[in-house]
Parts: sequence; C-alpha cells; structure tokens
Amino acid sequence: MIPFNKPYFSNNEYRYIKNVIDSGYVSGDHNYTQKCNEYIQQNFAVSKVLLTTSCSISLDMAAILLDLKKGDEVIMPSYNFVSTANAIVQKGAIPVFAEVTSDTLNIDPVDIERRITKRTKAIFPVHYAGVSCDMERITELAKKYKLKIVEDAAQGVYAKYKDKYLGTIGDIGTYSFHETKNYSCGEGGAILINNSEELARRAEIIREKGTNRSQFFRGEVDKYTWVDIGSSYLISDILAAMLYAQLEKLEEIQEKRKTVHDRYYSGLVELQNRERIRLPVIPSYCTTNYHIFYILLPTEEKRNDLMKYLKNRKIGATFHYIPLHISPMGMSLGYKHGDLLITENLSSRLLRLPIYPNLSQEEIQYVVESIHDWSKTI
Ligand SMILES: *Cc1c(COP(=O)(O)O)cnc(C)c1O
Repeated sequence: MIPFNKPYFSNNEYRYIKNVIDSGYVSGDHNYTQKCNEYIQQNFAVSKVLLTTSCSISLDMAAILLDLKKGDEVIMPSYNFVSTANAIVQKGAIPVFAEVTSDTLNIDPVDIERRITKRTKAIFPVHYAGVSCDMERITELAKKYKLKIVEDAAQGVYAKYKDKYLGTIGDIGTYSFHETKNYSCGEGGAILINNSEELARRAEIIREKGTNRSQFFRGEVDKYTWVDIGSSYLISDILAAMLYAQLEKLEEIQEKRKTVHDRYYSGLVELQNRERIRLPVIPSYCTTNYHIFYILLPTEEKRNDLMKYLKNRKIGATFHYIPLHISPMGMSLGYKHGDLLITENLSSRLLRLPIYPNLSQEEIQYVVESIHDWSKTI
C-alpha cells in the first residue's frame, strides 16, 4: 500500500515536546511559539508572524483585520479549499469566484480584473500546489483599484515568487501546518502581517481574545483589558515545539519532496510527449516547494478510470477540489454549472499522486510503471 500522504518527522519532535512539558508552560506564546514566530520572521523576511491554530483561523483573522462587512466583495478562485470562502462569508461579505489559468491552476489576473466592481474590497489569491500566483499582476491590480491582498499560502510555505517567500507579498499571508502540509504539527497555522504596524498590533489583540495582553507582557501597558473583538487563536506550546522541529528541517524536507517530484516528472514526461497526460507547469518566476504532484488526464472518465486502476494496485491517488461555485454553498450564492468552464474542466481531469519525503525510489517507480501500464489499456 502506498498512501497518498505520510507525515514526516525529524528526530527532535519528542525532545522539544518533552522540554515544554518539563518547563510547565504548555499554553500559548511560550518558548517554542516565540521561536517559531522568530524563525519564520527571520528566514522569510516578514515583519510580523503569529502562530495560530490553523490556516482557516488565520483567514478568519484576516477577514476581521480587513473589516469585511455585509455587501463587500472579495475575489478568490473557485478552484480552492473552503476556508478562504468561509472567512469571507462569515463576515457577511460575498466571495466572487474567478477562473484559474490552465497552466498553473492559479487565479487568472485577467479574470480578476473583469470581476472588480465598486464593492470589491480585496483579492484572496491561493498558491495552488506550492506554485506561486502571478503576484506582480495581482499586486498591480490591487494598487490600481485600491484593494487589499490576502495570500492563502496554506500550501506555499517556503516556496517563492521571484525572490520573495509566498505569504510575504500581500498585505496579509496565511500558512497551514496541518498534517497534510509540507511542515506540520498536526493542526496549526500562522498569520503573516506584511509591513503594517497597525495591522500587526490589531492582529495580536484579535488573537488574544480582543485584549492587549501581548502589549502587557512586553511591558508596554501596565494592565491588560478588553479593547477589540477577538477570540482565542493561540496554539499550545506543545504543538509549537513539534512545529519547531519541522521548521529546522525546512531545506531537508523540501529537497526530499523535490526528489519525488523530479522522479515523477522524468518517469512520466514521455506520456506527456505522447499527449496521454499533462504534467504540472512551474513558471520561471516561481520556486516551488513541491507540495502536490498532479497530472491532468484528457477527460474526466479517463481520470476516474486511472484513479480506480491505481487503487487496485494499492496506490492512493486522489482527485482534488470540487469547484466552490458548484458546491451547495456556491450554488446558494447564485452560481451554476457552466459559470466557470476552465475551472470545472480542469478539476474534473486532475489526479494527485502520492508525494511525501520518505516515498522511496522503488515506490515512485511502481507508481510510474502503473501509469504506463494503464496508458497501454486505453
Ligand atoms: C489546507 C488548506 C487550508 C486550511 O488549512 P488548515 O490549517 O487545515 O485550516 C486553507 N487553504 C488551502 C488552500 C489549503 O490547502
């Protein structure tokens, strides 16, 4: 059995978690939370990073920070996970679904501009598979129409657009440290505030149940009290300890995933040359983190057929998002089948292959051969 994903552990998780338990300080914002925040700030050149309980929560915080309210519109891709849309809807704002480009499956800047109205407040681009959106064009649009950018970089930790890490380009960025992501503590996330002291200060308050407790701990105020809305978005230092052990292996984990990615690519490129499948496209402006390896089949039937074929060979290959605009929630917002044809078409033809650091050369070879065997049957 080759599962779709297997979490990777360095040797330090147990030791760091034990350190936290031995210290007696197991709640949020202790030693390892600070270490993770500082590590990301320094290595990724971000002005403010706050660990949270998930990327979903970080997106909720972003929606609060932007003061989204009823009737505001936010442009995001339909080809995406639900969290981005939930963050918008929970504030009474309206997610406006845009198309993706067929090369990267990332939001299409041309379609973003078409969908901008007087009510548009923000763009929430998503970096699919750890491959960057076209951030220069998105940033130009945001400047031209005075919109905020929140990058959903859940899948993009340690990947880059040109010389900048994903999540550090927009006004706000969000990361996920869920078990399925490249760097993981089971459940966890971070919010990155780029170059706004005001937003950074407010983010700390929202994350601390609407109090100025963080300022109090730094000795900036002599009491802490209720000053804004908020909730408890702090991760336990036990999980932060686990995450720190993973962050220390940023490069090693990425290199191992690259090896898997490159082996798939070279093993399957011949099928691409014969137009049986299409492989991922990584634009020259992007340094990927190899989060996902997907292939595109010519039709949905062939995709389903290959998925079943691989399942019979005990290979955990899987489809990805049902486009949000044709989900029950999306349809209740007034969307219908056929509204975003590129998205619907691509999502129906996409298959993700197992990818994780310890996938062995033999296992990769078995997956590659199985796909070749299947292609002889069609
Ligand atoms: C995984 C993921 C999320 C949610 O991350 P959590 O940390 O599980 O909340 C949000 N957006 C995208 C694009 C994701 O891939």
